[in-house]
Amino acid sequence: MRILESIEPKEPLRFFEEICAIPHGSRNTGAIADYCVEFARERGLFCLRDEQNNVIIKKPASKGYEEKPVLILQGHLDMVCEKEPGAEIDLAREGLRLAREGDYIFAKGTTLGGDDGIAIAMMLAILDSGKIAHPALECVFTTDEEIGMLGAAALDPAPLAGRTMLNLDSENEGVFTVSCAGGATVSCAVPVCREEKTGVLFELSVEGLLGGHSGVEINLGRANANKLLARALDFLSQSLPLQLVSIAGGLKDNAIPARSCAQILLREASGIEALAEAFDLVLKHEYAASDAGVSLKLIRAGEGKANALTAKSTADVLSFLLLAPNGVAEMSREIEGLVESSLNLGILNCGEAFLNASFSVRSSVSSRKEMLIRILTRLTGLFGGSVCVQGDYPAWEYRRNSPLRERMERIFTAQYGFSPKIEAIHAGLECGIFAGKLEGLDCVSCGPDLLEIHTPREKMSISSLQRFWQFVIEVLGQS
Ligand SMILES: [Zn+2]
Repeated sequence: MRILESIEPKEPLRFFEEICAIPHGSRNTGAIADYCVEFARERGLFCLRDEQNNVIIKKPASKGYEEKPVLILQGHLDMVCEKEPGAEIDLAREGLRLAREGDYIFAKGTTLGGDDGIAIAMMLAILDSGKIAHPALECVFTTDEEIGMLGAAALDPAPLAGRTMLNLDSENEGVFTVSCAGGATVSCAVPVCREEKTGVLFELSVEGLLGGHSGVEINLGRANANKLLARALDFLSQSLPLQLVSIAGGLKDNAIPARSCAQILLREASGIEALAEAFDLVLKHEYAASDAGVSLKLIRAGEGKANALTAKSTADVLSFLLLAPNGVAEMSREIEGLVESSLNLGILNCGEAFLNASFSVRSSVSSRKEMLIRILTRLTGLFGGSVCVQGDYPAWEYRRNSPLRERMERIFTAQYGFSPKIEAIHAGLECGIFAGKLEGLDCVSCGPDLLEIHTPREKMSISSLQRFWQFVIEVLGQS
């Protein structure tokens, strides 16, 4: 007997249980794509599959809905595979061990992949049903969303006729996401010169910071270790001529760095400990509310020769790092509390000939993202350097006039008795990639309650799914 057999809504949960039996972590989507293609073939539905394992399945409109605009439904096939320490399961090969407790469905010892398996299950149930009324449907199953939205980025939009899209990759019932930021990684290379120098070596580090996600947590005022370290170095350099030997902090451009460390060489180091202690207190004072664990540490690392940056290059590096914009650049005037544009100096390191500083730049307004990239380009140019822009993805801009959102708000309010929350997020979503590919796209993202996604504690609320499934059927029926 199937674990979820007796639970409503039966149809989506039947398909959910089937796909949970197929391993489908990111980069391991061949089998689940096969399953979708076979599903379409058995039912005689139009189906396309590309090299990325993205699948598109189309279904004609129900009787009486032939004149309605085509609706795209979309979700991602891949899931994050996390397991509890010691859990004896190989998620690359084995299916999930589903279980139910009260209102929740979860997988024993692992992520559930309700993100975004429940979207896949709902789409399959709608495609399978002879009873649900709907306009012509284009169901898009993308891959590798969790590792950079690679499937959506590679998808050829030509087969899609729809310009209205319901994305089912949200995990808060009652919240409609209607806009997301676009972004890019901007790597700045500032040339440096080195020389053999003798002196006293110290290690200076900023540590104990909270860090966080450079998109959704950039508005919390948390310190960026790379920026603080540059300030500390600048502070010391006002009293003691120092030369940088190395500087490094952060591993990902989209994470606020929690630690950054520099090696410095000084000819005369007396008083440096007192200066470092004084600046440590400055930082503790400034960040008492947002980053109470901040600490500036100074360690004497010996004496002797080092391959240090010249005084001029050290000055260039400190100027660049102090002048580089970082954090929230602009708040939205359209949606209260939303960060519109931001930057994060996520990765910093210094090689033989270049200082490399990598920024994650985000904005929900494309022209503002371009402006921030230009600022970094100009700034780097002042020091004779150049930038490289990678992973550029478009913003999903807020639409004042959105027939889909208005219809969904009306249906939601009638069903729930209160209004949904309309939200924009300062991070990337697949909707942004689709908005960039499908001119004039009207799109909303929503989903049932999923808790603690991307962790082995992930669980899905059954009652929430029941309401949400009803809601989706209404949205289809009232097209
Ligand atoms: Zn997801």
